[in-house]
Amino acid sequence: MRIGFGFDTHKLEAGREFRLGGILIPHEKGATGHSDADVLIHAVCDALLGAAGLPDIGSQFPDTSPEFKGIDSRILLERTMSLVREKGFAIVNIDTTIVLQKPKIAEYFTEMVKTLSGVLGIEASKVSVKAKTSEKLGFIGREEGVSAYAVVLLENA
Ligand code: MG
Repeated sequence: MRIGFGFDTHKLEAGREFRLGGILIPHEKGATGHSDADVLIHAVCDALLGAAGLPDIGSQFPDTSPEFKGIDSRILLERTMSLVREKGFAIVNIDTTIVLQKPKIAEYFTEMVKTLSGVLGIEASKVSVKAKTSEKLGFIGREEGVSAYAVVLLENA
């Protein structure tokens, strides 16, 4: 068994699409970044890579590369899972927490889990998505950004 941890933060700006957990969240603000800025998928990728003993997401998919400009993070997740499989590992489970002040996103958890587990090729029961606000504290509380944390457990396939 191997455990991995991932974290990511992105800035929120008005007029951007808000991609989170592989789905589009209706909101006046969205995350900014080189890719589609899906903070949850990026945290999951880093947790998977860390557990597998592989270099992190920034090394695998550099934000200086035009190949990854605006890329759908579901593609990054799919590629990450291929690397994990090549190393001989399978996912036991993934647990995640999104930290976001607004909007309320609980109604999207089921769709996020379905999307993530679908891309990873695992049962939905192996993926957990949760969310917290930051009680209006700090940059998240001021609605300037969003963060996500993920832990992953791998076993030998
Ligand atoms: Mg990121």
